[in-house]
Amino acid sequence: MKYTEEFLRGAQACQIICGETKATKNMVLQAVMAGAKTVEDTETKVTICGKAECGCAENVRTLLKIYLPIYALMFEGGGCHHKHTSHAECGRETCTDCIHSDKDE
Ligand SMILES: [Zn+2]
Repeated sequence: MKYTEEFLRGAQACQIICGETKATKNMVLQAVMAGAKTVEDTETKVTICGKAECGCAENVRTLLKIYLPIYALMFEGGGCHHKHTSHAECGRETCTDCIHSDKDE
C-alpha cells in the first residue's frame, strides 16, 4: 500500500508503512533521528520488503521528504545539546540550549 504525503503526514506513529514486514511510521522516524538521510540508510535500520507492489520504499521516501527538513531544523537549531557551558563558547545565535545555560548562571 502506497500512501500519499498528506496521509503520511497526518498518520499515527503506529501506522504500518510496509504490509509485508509491518514496519511502522514511528520506526522510520526513529531511523531519521538516528541519522538516516536516504531510503537506503533507513533500510539498514528498518526492515521493509522493498517490493514495488507493496509501495513501502515509496512510503519511506515520502516520510523522509516530510520529516528530514523538520529534524534538520531541530538538530541544527537546537545545536549543541548542553555541550557548551555558555552561549559565548557555543557562538551559535540559534542555539537555545546555550542561551538557556547563560540564564541559569
Ligand atoms: Zn513492503
